[in-house]
Amino acid sequence: MIYFDNSATTKVASSVLEEMLPYLKEEYGNPSSKFYSLAVNAQNAVKLARKRLATLLGCDDDEIIFTSGATESNNMVIKGVANTYSEQGNHIITSQTEHPSVLETCQYLESKGWKVTYLGVDQFGRINIQDLENAIKKNKPILVSIIWGNNEVGSLNEIEKIASICREHQVFFHTDATQVCGKISINLKELPGIRFLSMSGHKIHGPKGVGVCFIRKQLANVKTKLTPLLHGGSQEDGYRSGTLAVHNIVGLGKAAELANENLDRNIEKLMFLEQKLTKILKDRFGDHIQLNHDNKKKIPGILSVRFVRKNNEVLIKKLAPYIALSTGSACSSGKPSHVLQAMGKSLEEIRQTVRISLSPENTLEELEIFNRL
Ligand code: PMP
Repeated sequence: MIYFDNSATTKVASSVLEEMLPYLKEEYGNPSSKFYSLAVNAQNAVKLARKRLATLLGCDDDEIIFTSGATESNNMVIKGVANTYSEQGNHIITSQTEHPSVLETCQYLESKGWKVTYLGVDQFGRINIQDLENAIKKNKPILVSIIWGNNEVGSLNEIEKIASICREHQVFFHTDATQVCGKISINLKELPGIRFLSMSGHKIHGPKGVGVCFIRKQLANVKTKLTPLLHGGSQEDGYRSGTLAVHNIVGLGKAAELANENLDRNIEKLMFLEQKLTKILKDRFGDHIQLNHDNKKKIPGILSVRFVRKNNEVLIKKLAPYIALSTGSACSSGKPSHVLQAMGKSLEEIRQTVRISLSPENTLEELEIFNRL
């Protein structure tokens, strides 16, 4: 089976699994316990993972909060800001091409009386910076939440500009960076406008069920206040209660270390594979394919391809015994893609679109097999 659905999830790297296993077997201590070695070993393992994540993101260790994944991180920030800062305003700005965990959280808040602006996007799925600035001036929001890199078409928003506009207007800025962490270079110290960021373990060859919410400190030692989703044992500085999933956190830490160490090599490999695949598709299908994604300013390895006059589900089912592909996001299967709709695609174009998402683990041989199918 050739796996070309790496935006949905990735295979756990073998060195990640190896580091996780002891924490499912002999090292089963609870990091919140004290004094005895099992507890101390678990604490140290979590500490190392936190350091590895902070290195990947370019932030301080105590700005890393472990969660169950990006869905939770997105909910935590949006509902948390809404709950904590409601006296300062009731408006949120986001975009039409967010992941459902942002969109549906915003819709939930709308049902509770919040006002939400969903910014439109261009033909490649990027928001317009001027539109954002106008919306901020008009609505005085307390939170802006904009996806960094899109999970269906790979387009990168101009996060540096967005972050600095939000900073200038003193608005909290959150970005869902699930698809970009470990795939492009990120240095949060150089992007002070980003107050919150979400990421997930299973998109970078780490385990499922673990992620990070980055919460920037206001000053050197002053934490940003955020009402938690989960109350209880006050783990993770009270931001996220619940016994830490040490094995998963260890796995995420190792995956972050691997992504960081191999970043340049991985980007080069993905760009090489993407160029080869584009050539294969163009040579074979000519005008019968169209690329929905932009070649520039995108996450390497994510392709959104329209196969003219082919139904995407029929095509994917036919290829399913040999190759794993998807129509778009795995999280909204069945519904026509809201991302492609926002990009101005017709329902017909959407029903002919297939997402191909590569990993550095993929090979040239796999592309050649794909070409022969
Ligand atoms: N945001 C984006 C952009 C995603 O691609 C995903 C995963 N499909 C999520 C959030 C949710 O991540 P998780 O599976 O860790 O909850």
